[in-house]
Amino acid sequence: MKIGFIGLGNMGAPMALNLVKVGHTLNVFDLNAEAVRTLVEAGARAVPSPRAAATDVECVITMLPAAAHVRQVLTGDEGVLAGIADGVRIIDSSTIDPASARQLAALCEKRGNTFVDAPVSGGTGGAIAGALTFMVGASKDEYEEIVPLLAAMGKNIVHCGETGTGQVAKICNNLVLGVTMAGVAEAMALGDALGIDASVLAGIINTSTGRCWSSDTYNPFPGVIGTAPASRGYTGGFGTDLMLKDLGLATDAAKAARQPAFMGALAQQLYQAMSARGAGRLDFSAIMRLYQADANVVPG
Ligand code: NAD
Repeated sequence: MKIGFIGLGNMGAPMALNLVKVGHTLNVFDLNAEAVRTLVEAGARAVPSPRAAATDVECVITMLPAAAHVRQVLTGDEGVLAGIADGVRIIDSSTIDPASARQLAALCEKRGNTFVDAPVSGGTGGAIAGALTFMVGASKDEYEEIVPLLAAMGKNIVHCGETGTGQVAKICNNLVLGVTMAGVAEAMALGDALGIDASVLAGIINTSTGRCWSSDTYNPFPGVIGTAPASRGYTGGFGTDLMLKDLGLATDAAKAARQPAFMGALAQQLYQAMSARGAGRLDFSAIMRLYQADANVVPG
């Protein structure tokens, strides 16, 4: 299939690489030339704009930081909607608010295109392994048509309901993630301060009732899990500013629904404190450093 892929960051690049690997032909665009180069070396074609990425393709996929970027990439003068043919589907895998997803879907529909929200979870490891979970907001027919394409990038492809419900699932999941990561960091720092070896403590948590992804796969204590960002100075992974954005999406949606989000609001403040100290680009598990009296949040 000929695909336009826009947004080749920590997640988008490995997702696009997996599409190339199974034989799809990709037009790729990103503002970061370095990210584009990696894809071109793998066989993709670099194009100068989102409009060019969407020209003469059967599907467009976007993987961008936030709703403002998706809106700009779709509706800008050199945007996707300026180049796309009628009937071509747009799949947005960025994490954005459900209301924006529904607005963009309505806009695309007016132009004769379908817009599907298909955010993901599984982190950069899942993106590299082609093992992401896709949360799809679309009609059942639309969902069934895109499953084979998404299967090249993910293992668990779930139909959540109509447009926007993929994003609802995603922001609820990340509300849990933001809270559990803060909880695991708090417990690991406490255990360390009280004198237990961090790996022993993590081993206990991971076979006890405290077990969760934030502890057994992505533990924030350096050295506990060799493949986690904590063991490489919190580089790569899922940026603190992206987690802050997602908790903002959750608390805003909660406010609109008049639904309490006590833990989400507190977690949002913790990541905001990280960001304010200059750690916005570090992996979100660097929240560990907020609890370590002897660690600078951003080492100089
Ligand atoms: P990232 O910041 O690493 O990548 C975003 C990419 O978009 C960058 O390469 C940037 O240059 C590009 N970009 C920004 N504006 C652009 C524009 N106008 N035109 C073209 N390219 C543009 O982010 P990421 O970690 O890949 O995350 C992408 C999305 O996926 C976010 O919404 C995030 O919340 C979500 N997500 C991330 C993870 C993770 O573990 N990193 C996991 C699940 C979901």
